Amino acid sequence: MKFCPQCGTQLDDAAVMCPNCGANFAMPQPNMAYQATPEYDHTAEFDAKDISDNKVVAMVVYLLGTIGIIIAAILAGDSKYAGFHVRQQLKIVVLSVLLSICAAVLCWTIIVPIAAGVCCVILFVVRIICFFNVCSGKAVEPAIVRSFGFLK
Ligand SMILES: [Zn+2]
Repeated sequence: MKFCPQCGTQLDDAAVMCPNCGANFAMPQPNMAYQATPEYDHTAEFDAKDISDNKVVAMVVYLLGTIGIIIAAILAGDSKYAGFHVRQQLKIVVLSVLLSICAAVLCWTIIVPIAAGVCCVILFVVRIICFFNVCSGKAVEPAIVRSFGFLK
């Protein structure tokens, strides 16, 4: 039971307007769309069914890398959710290959191969984070990799 803050009339708990004085005291509803979603979080763009159906495929993509991408293309070629993760994993693969090439070409500098090695470890960590994001049904562009604008 609640009372009108203006005239004191007894009101129904669900009332949003006072029948006596007409005061409107509807609580501002928390707006779901208002919650700031980071622009790299694409979870909302995907179908809940698509996510649940292709979660395992997306996990495999991050677990097996290039082989996982091929498996996903065969098993879930038409899934947007799996496709998203294939693109993220492709970025990681491309970056790893570029790093390897740099390390090979500049191996005489010693520092470049070491730096490339460190970057590969970071990319591996990124993959693990992606894997756990998929476990919770999310579609988040991986850190670091997301700053590379290709394959959105
Ligand atoms: Zn009132």
